[in-house]
Amino acid sequence: MVARYPLLATDVPGPASAALHARRTKAVSAAVGTGLPVYIEEASGALLRDVDGNELIDFASGIAVTSVGNGAPRVVSGVREQVERFTHTCFMVTAYEPYVEVCERLNELTPGRHDKRSALFNSGAEAVENAVKIARYATGRDTVVAFDHAYHGRTNLTMALTAKSMPYKSGFGPFAGEIHRVPMAYPYRWPTGPQGCAEEAFEGFVAQVRAQVGEQNTAAVILEPIQGEGGFIVPAAGFVARVARWCRENGIVFIADEIQTGFCRTGDWFACEHEGVVPDLITTGKAIAGGLPLAAVTGRAELMDAVHTGGLGGTYGGNPVACAAALGAIETMRVEHLATRAAELGEILRSRLVALAEKYDAIGDVRGRGLMQAVELVSDRDAKTPDAATTAAVNQACHRAGLLTLTCGTYGNVVRFLPPLVITEELLDRGISIFESALGEVAGT
Ligand SMILES: *Cc1c(COP(=O)(O)O)cnc(C)c1O
Repeated sequence: MVARYPLLATDVPGPASAALHARRTKAVSAAVGTGLPVYIEEASGALLRDVDGNELIDFASGIAVTSVGNGAPRVVSGVREQVERFTHTCFMVTAYEPYVEVCERLNELTPGRHDKRSALFNSGAEAVENAVKIARYATGRDTVVAFDHAYHGRTNLTMALTAKSMPYKSGFGPFAGEIHRVPMAYPYRWPTGPQGCAEEAFEGFVAQVRAQVGEQNTAAVILEPIQGEGGFIVPAAGFVARVARWCRENGIVFIADEIQTGFCRTGDWFACEHEGVVPDLITTGKAIAGGLPLAAVTGRAELMDAVHTGGLGGTYGGNPVACAAALGAIETMRVEHLATRAAELGEILRSRLVALAEKYDAIGDVRGRGLMQAVELVSDRDAKTPDAATTAAVNQACHRAGLLTLTCGTYGNVVRFLPPLVITEELLDRGISIFESALGEVAGT
């Protein structure tokens, strides 16, 4: 059965998608882009069926969201039951149990056995904004330190925290103030090579914050334990732990942004666990609710309870339907051991990518953890010249062949792989083979 996927009935995109696209350009702002303009009619697990009857293999998960797959039974039944009971009261007006239960799950599952509290929001950017509000309030300090290649969202404050200009920031300033940017321990591009990367990056970070901000003015350091949009950059081993420890020593709130890495994606519930790091605050979103909009801030009770009552909230934050979906998604991850699954499937994916790197000079680096893997493409291996054109061409060749892939990276030269964690081994294998052919077609010797 699986060998027939992807099932291509027409070109991708086909005529029905093209017709919808023509309608869309007259109705939808051109500022909202779409990586592959096929229009989806139905989706289940790791397959997406478009309006032309094409069935595509999903290596995107709606940007690391549908980790439990589309149509996960516990998500669907939880949502259905909740919709029939009630859809909204606003937690700030009258409360309900699913909100409390999601916070209980978050407090249990996130790293660290200390006393924790959570608050729920609608999007990742909103969670990051609130984490910064909490850190500033609790410390009485202003400055937030963020890293090169960081991505934290598209609202005004989170644009300021995000590093990349195009397409996220260009033309949208002025940005929120009191943000200070420091270099990331990016092993592949560290000037003196990967060996000294963690140490040198940490020392540079401390020296820069001390000289240009002052520890006593620093409210928080925010960091993605594996950088997502910036290029699936895995910080050099030990770097994150040293930054977290230094923050603790200086009364600075260490915020781990696990919006993309969280909920089993990297082979553990949270990416911080790989390095034994316990953040003061952790932001989650994306995969938390199987595709419904939900995000959270979880952290030390004394920080989370510091803000005056009424200081945090929002009309829809922790909507009951989204909470029901989250409880279904979290239960699915637990019962189906999706962290272990991500580690196993990630190993299969990684070994195939490493073998490809031996064959094709275009692959400069293979990196990631669990089922969050990527290849960085270069036009010259020694000079490590980023090759965004080849990256876009490979991505498009995958799309034409029925595999939905995504790119990322500060230099636009990274192909990233984010299949649902419930993908079958056969379908994963098919998808990788399509990527191999696409790479051979575009970058073959
Ligand atoms: C996607 C993402 C965000 C923003 O989340 P939205 O739900 O799109 O607002 C923030 N941080 C990281 C690390 C992300 O990957």
